[in-house]
Amino acid sequence: MRRWNGWGDTATAMDLPEQGLAFLGERIGAGYPLPDAKLEAVKALVPPSRLQGIGEATGVDVMHDAESRIRHARGQSLADWLAMRSGRFGAFPDAVAFPHSSADVRKLLVHCARHDIVVIPYGGGTSVAGHVNPVEGTSKPVLTVSLSRMNSLQDLDEESQIATFGAGVAGPHLEAQLRAKGFTLGHFPQSFELSTLGGWVVTRSSGQQSLRYGRIEQLFAGGRVELMRGDGEALDIPAFPASAAGPDLREWCLGSEGRMGILTEVKVRVTRLAEKETFLAFFLPNWTKARDAARALVQSRTQLSMLRVSNAVETETQLALAGHPGQIAWLERYLGWRGAAEGKCMMTLGVTGSRAQVSAVKQQLKHVLSDFGAVSTGELLGRKWAEKRFMMPYLREALWQQGYVVDTLETATNWRNVDRLLNAIEDNLRTTGPKTHVFTHLSHVYSQGCSIYTTYVFPCQASYDETLKTWAKLKHSTSRIIVEHGGTISHQHGVGKDHAPYLPAEKGDVAMEAIGAVMKHFDPAGLLNPGTLLADAPGVPLPEQLAGD
Ligand SMILES: Cc1cc2nc3c(=O)[nH]c(=O)nc-3n(C[C@H](O)[C@H](O)[C@H](O)COP(=O)(O)OP(=O)(O)OC[C@H]3O[C@@H](n4cnc5c(N)ncnc54)[C@H](O)[C@@H]3O)c2cc1C
Repeated sequence: MRRWNGWGDTATAMDLPEQGLAFLGERIGAGYPLPDAKLEAVKALVPPSRLQGIGEATGVDVMHDAESRIRHARGQSLADWLAMRSGRFGAFPDAVAFPHSSADVRKLLVHCARHDIVVIPYGGGTSVAGHVNPVEGTSKPVLTVSLSRMNSLQDLDEESQIATFGAGVAGPHLEAQLRAKGFTLGHFPQSFELSTLGGWVVTRSSGQQSLRYGRIEQLFAGGRVELMRGDGEALDIPAFPASAAGPDLREWCLGSEGRMGILTEVKVRVTRLAEKETFLAFFLPNWTKARDAARALVQSRTQLSMLRVSNAVETETQLALAGHPGQIAWLERYLGWRGAAEGKCMMTLGVTGSRAQVSAVKQQLKHVLSDFGAVSTGELLGRKWAEKRFMMPYLREALWQQGYVVDTLETATNWRNVDRLLNAIEDNLRTTGPKTHVFTHLSHVYSQGCSIYTTYVFPCQASYDETLKTWAKLKHSTSRIIVEHGGTISHQHGVGKDHAPYLPAEKGDVAMEAIGAVMKHFDPAGLLNPGTLLADAPGVPLPEQLAGD
């Protein structure tokens, strides 16, 4: 069963090895566990629903019970995590609807438009930017619409390689349905286990193997969006291989974050399953060589499916958290002997294709990487990474039990600006709050630049309030640094409510007005997910207010 107050399934856990805990203690001091609220106590705090009768009025399954409302009240940001663990959720939806079809969604939207009800579309609830949280203090009732029952493969055009799915399909179920027919979508965000196709599209998600399959922008071919205007209007976006027929309607949907309508059906471009896939790990002697090697690989168009470069602190942290101290000591000795000692950086690569392609790419890889002093460790570490790729979010639970919180920040910028931005982000996180362990990797590389993905861990503070305030200070000050240093406010997590205040710095006033006007065109009463994407809901506490700035 899914955890009501954290990540993933209650039956799954990831251990924090003893040496990993010792490593953290040495860097940032002992953890400080905070007490968890009990589900029964939180249930008692849920106010009566203002939406009794909506199920009968629409003929759609709607739940009003406290537990369903708790389970759909928050996403997975650190602020959400603290709200869930403390039991202080702020606001709850009044009810949660579970439509089975586009027609069900249309009935809900027509009803909500008539009765002035706020609607929050909900995929897997894995947002890390406050997307799905109801706004506190709103006088209007809130209906959260879960797409979880719209999860099947409706059509597979094998000749054109286009699959049509219900938008609420989560990663594992989507891949299982495609794999049974010999295809894959190849979209693997780290949240794969719980996040959904509809959520990926509207937040412009990026999967770990985007080098081969593309970001969701390239995979999204078309679909159907139910709108909150008129008497049940919808937008059908056709799936052409390419088109010069004016602006592309897909672009209105991508990044709309539940403000435009509810995406009910999604057409995606799929690929036949590859004959072979392998993951390899190399170590580079230092950051400059690692970064330049990554750039050389992508700019030489080496056909990789994944490329991830960890900086020296992330490399050290990964090795400390790996367990097996004897084997790691042996690896360190070997790497040192080969010239990758202190300051070394790990590069993890994916190669996917036919046997002949994989073997040709491996040759090309060795050729490019030898110029940078890379040391190959073969397939063992790469295989371990692939086995645990969706387990890392469970580490958050293990860290929490030991009194630590963890959060991530991400952006993208051009190669010329990578070090300046990366250093500014890391320096700020290290110097603004309590002792904080900070490390970074480049997870998505392009010819022009890359994403920068920074993780930071600090001990819980003396209370929930103090911990939230510390997070808000770090989040707010670093978000400001990102936009002031030429980074985008998000490469993959989207805008939500947490990043909305920083969006105008990137887009400019005229563009912000245009985005607002487009959303208003599709949702004239502004009832869809207010406060997300556009900072237009006064009840949303901004990170800077939480931080007391
Ligand atoms: C541990 C962890 C790892 C992550 N790793 C990645 C990663 O590698 N890459 C990445 O891109 N992101 C990642 N994320 C962020 C998150 O998973 C993505 O933003 C994801 O796309 C959200 O999908 P979801 O189905 O959970 O959407 P939700 O969180 O449910 O919703 C997100 C937004 O989309 C809207 N929405 C959802 N479904 C629909 C729909 N059908 N129609 C209209 N609006 C809808 C909601 O209203 C909301 O505004 C990670 C998050 C976590 C917690």
